[in-house]
This record gives sequence, C-alpha cells and structure tokens, in this order.
Amino acid sequence: MRERVIKSDDEWRGLLTPEQFRVLRRAGTEPAFSGALTDVFDEGTYRCAGCQTTLFTSETKFHSGCGWPSFWKPISDDVITEHADTSFGMARTEVRCAVCEGHLGHVFNDGPPPTGLRYCINSVSLEFVPVGADTSDTPT
Ligand code: FE
Repeated sequence: MRERVIKSDDEWRGLLTPEQFRVLRRAGTEPAFSGALTDVFDEGTYRCAGCQTTLFTSETKFHSGCGWPSFWKPISDDVITEHADTSFGMARTEVRCAVCEGHLGHVFNDGPPPTGLRYCINSVSLEFVPVGADTSDTPT
C-alpha cells in the first residue's frame, strides 16, 4: 500500500496552476487537442502533476486520435483507482491517482491489444519526464 498524499484545497491551490486545480481537484476536462502531451511520443515516463507519482510510461502510450494522451496500461495496478462516473448522462469509468486522488481522466474499452483499454488522460494532470532526466530530488 502506497503512502497517501492528502492536502486541503487551499494547499493544492498553492501548488497547482488554476487549470491543474480545475482538472485534478474538480474532475475537470481540458479541451480536446489542447493538451501539451497528446502528441508526445518520446521515451520517458508520465507522473502525476499533483504528487509526482509515476503513472504511465511511453511504452504504453499510443495515438488514439481522441485528442487526449492515451495509454493502454498504467505502470502498475496500484497507482490508479477506478470510480463509476455517471455525470453528463454517460456511464464512464473515472481514473484517479491512487496516491493523491487527483482526477486523471477516464478509461474506455476501445483501446489496442494487449489490454483493449484506453486510458484517456488529461495532459494537465501529467508531467512528462524524458528518459535520462534527473529526478533524484523528487519522489517516483
Ligand atoms: Fe497524484
């Protein structure tokens, strides 16, 4: 079980940009095709913009055409949690960071093999760490 990161809204506001706060802490969605990481396919890892936990790797990122960064698997099963989401009259599965409970996006069943899943994740919820970058001063 990973140690949880729990902060108040005021603490999160001090750490995040207004758009990160809206998406991560209020389950917002960035406009399609607006995110900085949608078309990034360099080698590296993607970590939570809230708590810096590594969530995905470039090996599972694929071009979905949906307008948001898309992955077919998280880096491990214990870094994300899934929640039923019936907002906007749709039955969707929300995915959150398991460590800070930040909203990441949703998971759909129209992804590629081997999982058939598409983790559709907001760019602003993620930070890309290129392979070889020095991350020794931050948790992973
Ligand atoms: Fe997090």
